[in-house]
Amino acid sequence: MSDHFDVVVIGGGPAGYPAAIRAAQNKLSVACIDEWKNKDGAPAFGGTCLNAGCIPSKALLESTELVHRANHEFAAHGITTSNVSVDLGQMQKRKSGIVKTMTQGILALFKAAGVTPLQGHGKLLSGHRIEFTAHDGTKRELTAKNIILAAGSAPVELRSAPFQTPQIVDSWGALDFDSVPKRLGVIGAGVIGLELGSVWRRLGSEVVVLEALPDFLAIADQQLAKEALRHFKKLGLDVRLGAKVTGATIAGDAVDVTYTDAKGEQKLTVDRLVVAIGRRPYTQDLLGTETGVELDERGFIKVDHECRTGAEAIWAVGDCVRGPMLAHKGKEEGVMVADLIAGRFAEVNYKTVPSVIYTAPEIAWVGLTEEQVKAQGTAYKVGVFPFLASGRARAMEQAQGFTKLIAAKEDDEILGVHIIGPMAGELIAEAVLAMEYSASSEDLQRTIHAHPTLSEGLHEAALAVDKRAIDSINK
Ligand code: FAD
Ligand code: NAD
Repeated sequence: MSDHFDVVVIGGGPAGYPAAIRAAQNKLSVACIDEWKNKDGAPAFGGTCLNAGCIPSKALLESTELVHRANHEFAAHGITTSNVSVDLGQMQKRKSGIVKTMTQGILALFKAAGVTPLQGHGKLLSGHRIEFTAHDGTKRELTAKNIILAAGSAPVELRSAPFQTPQIVDSWGALDFDSVPKRLGVIGAGVIGLELGSVWRRLGSEVVVLEALPDFLAIADQQLAKEALRHFKKLGLDVRLGAKVTGATIAGDAVDVTYTDAKGEQKLTVDRLVVAIGRRPYTQDLLGTETGVELDERGFIKVDHECRTGAEAIWAVGDCVRGPMLAHKGKEEGVMVADLIAGRFAEVNYKTVPSVIYTAPEIAWVGLTEEQVKAQGTAYKVGVFPFLASGRARAMEQAQGFTKLIAAKEDDEILGVHIIGPMAGELIAEAVLAMEYSASSEDLQRTIHAHPTLSEGLHEAALAVDKRAIDSINK
């Protein structure tokens, strides 16, 4: 096997593996190095997303949403169920099966595209050399014209509540519980806290979520955040805002947590504690000396808008560089870099990266929040359409939430779309495409949407911007 490649990618997560595939599609010789090992010791491509993030979390969200519906919605449909019971072992087995199929799928994609998979550790050395250490410890030196760093991220540890398995765990640990904790504490009401908090709440845990900030979902449009909080409370998630954790002590099989909030010192005892306060770039033993690659003050690999590091023909993509830590953002960066290497035109439009929180109701947005539009001083107009007025949402027994569209007053360009409701994560794709083409609300108003569909919500929200909604009262 050759030790020289046109492109070597270090990291086989959703940023790295698409970069490798696109580079191979561009007729370049490519190797992708990945060191991930699952808890059973088996190596697997796919990184955090496929093994311990997006995919297993969505598998459990789907299963537990079905449990919730069986218990709380079926009766409204006239379906009588008795003794809905959960086989957590089977639920976890299904999840693991999906993960295995998806991660093995990457090897099949590599084979079809002609990418050389190398499982083990990659370290960038000077002079476009890479030290590859296979899982059995054997070392090999590779050289490459171009090197793409896609090393990903790792969970942030909280000094006052360090990880201590099995009681104090990160998100990967929380995806693998083999029994439903009676009392579950979650530190951080971010995306992971809300998704995994929902999973275990639906299975019966009493869930308390401690969030340091005084505002709920501060990154989201606040009208949407307010609506979301109402639904999470209805589900029974006990979200405590302005809560700063000061300590966590293991007490037998439980954890005693102390925190302070506006009322002073507080105590909480839980059976399991999940720490989900964000992730940090992972660059451990990635860079040798004199590589020319620099890290910023937060440990991210420094790159420009095209993901070029300061070093010639060395690129970095995904969670290990600035920007939102999202699989699809990493994927687009990986593909962009592989095309730039091949001399093709490529760019990532960071203004249209969608965000989705896969709870029920689902939450999704793209572009600016109303608060951001206001802060930048742009005159704007807003249209909101409630799912209560959607025939399809009613038929689904999921008529909750709304679609909100913000457009510039001056030229009607869509500035942001915020959806909370059924299938919001799917619906947002239309808004992303519209914004990618700098569409106006009028463009959406004039686009035919099938009836009865949830997507009519976006159509009606666009009409509501000009007080021309048909199926809801214009305010
Ligand atoms: P990673 O997926 O972390 O992959 C990096 C890979 O590189 C890993 O396999 C790692 O082992 C390997 N590696 C690192 N250093 C080396 C080295 N020196 N040598 C060899 N290999 C190395 N995002 C979404 O968009 N949607 C979601 O629904 C979603 N859900 C999530 C749920 C959870 C619980 C978590 C934790 C995250 C979720 N994310 C989600 C975030 C998403 O997982 C990340 O944004 C994404 O995985 C980043 O991709 P990446 O390729 O940059 O890094
Ligand atoms: P996050 O940044 O989404 O949320 C972390 C939350 O913890 C924030 O609300 C923050 O204010 C709070 N926090 C920080 N320090 C705290 C402290 N000491 N005490 C209490 N609260 C504290 O991070 P996350 O939920 O850990 O997720 C990590 C990354 O994974 C995110 O970047 C996210 O985008 C990604 N992810 C995405 C999805 C998705 O796309 N659906 C799902 C899961 C994770």
